Amino acid sequence: MFDLTLTFDNGPDPEVTPRVLDVLRARSLRSTFFVLGRKLGDPVGQDLARRIRAEGHGIANHTFTHAVPLGENPALDVVETEIVATDRLLEEIGTPTRLFRPFGGGGNLDRRLLKRSVVDHLVAERYSCVLWNSIPRDWADPEGWVETALD
Ligand SMILES: [Zn+2]
Repeated sequence: MFDLTLTFDNGPDPEVTPRVLDVLRARSLRSTFFVLGRKLGDPVGQDLARRIRAEGHGIANHTFTHAVPLGENPALDVVETEIVATDRLLEEIGTPTRLFRPFGGGGNLDRRLLKRSVVDHLVAERYSCVLWNSIPRDWADPEGWVETALD
């Protein structure tokens, strides 16, 4: 017996997220969606974020650009541009969060994930940093990832 938490990253996506929400609702499952700030800039993304919350799921910050792992990002303002900017959008649309998942660059769990300024911000603002322990690499194997996940 074990607990399993499903999470969905990199949305909200106008094609994928509604389908995921429909499946979760049909099976009475709850999940957490780790969303990207750059996908919350238009009304479609904002409406999807509101739907995620309205249907009882968690919503969380998964960076703004999802482009460079924070530990490898040399920008001095990475906290502002990747974390605070996304949180600002989530608050504006009524879905504030204190959950954060860094961009893993392919699932890496090492020093590439975070840097000191990011850790200091997450601690000061009392975030929970949510990582992962199973990566079926769905992006690399769209047909076979389910078997990988079940294994
Ligand atoms: Zn991601």
